[in-house]
Amino acid sequence: MALRRILRIDNPDDKKILTTRCHPVRMPNPSLKQLVADMFETMHAANGVGLAAPQIGITQRLAVISIPPVVEERPDGTKVEVAPEQNFVLINPEIIKASNQEEVALEGCLSLPGWYGEVPRATWVTVEYTDLNGRRQRIRRATGLLARALQHEIDHLDGILFTERIRDLSTLKDYSEEMAPAAAE
Ligand code: ZN
Repeated sequence: MALRRILRIDNPDDKKILTTRCHPVRMPNPSLKQLVADMFETMHAANGVGLAAPQIGITQRLAVISIPPVVEERPDGTKVEVAPEQNFVLINPEIIKASNQEEVALEGCLSLPGWYGEVPRATWVTVEYTDLNGRRQRIRRATGLLARALQHEIDHLDGILFTERIRDLSTLKDYSEEMAPAAAE
């Protein structure tokens, strides 16, 4: 495995690649496994929950998502995992259905480290994608952080950056001196 450099929105050469509409991945594709392993490693090293291939300079419709487990603390102090970690390799993903309702929440991007802004996203989405084995899969009515990450990553594949989705740009702020206020993707 290898760490890849994450392209930045505030670098003009990088931004050209980040705003390119990506090509469909042709399957089967034996080189994908190594690339996907590198993407998970790069995403985890940057403490992100999602990473799209164009963020490491590859303009193909491929993204990874890793939603951390939900852990609750009981009154006696013991911690219980109430939802497991969820990992996805999304090849040629498509939103096939989305709620009309929106949710506004703080969102960050690994291509603009430290910066977060309020982004409206559909409350739920249904996504179809191909997995590493070449099988077409469906995530039905994803909500919460997964719904947000899916929309953020699929936007990357269309060359759309989260900063373009922010309606009130005064909410876009640099939190790099503080604790990250939300997930970065
Ligand atoms: Zn991003």
